[in-house]
Amino acid sequence: MGSPDGLTRRCAAADEGDPTPCEGPLAAVVIVTGDGTQITGCVQHSARQLASMKGARLHPMAALLPWALDVYCRAAELPPFPWQIGL
Ligand SMILES: [Zn+2]
Repeated sequence: MGSPDGLTRRCAAADEGDPTPCEGPLAAVVIVTGDGTQITGCVQHSARQLASMKGARLHPMAALLPWALDVYCRAAELPPFPWQIGL
């Protein structure tokens, strides 16, 4: 992940088409997708993937972290694939 120049290094949850920068730690939470794949991401991009991927949820361990609620609240307010409509 990230470009060679290091200027746009982002977390693993950042979608290629999503231009927004990371927020908080790059490994804030772990998302578990519908097929069981685990993706570690920042608060911003984890919320966006959570809103976009069918069946995705936070890893149970994430519930112990202070930003888990923040991720859920953000995801609840986002449409799927928000970067496609400029959000
Ligand atoms: Zn990110």
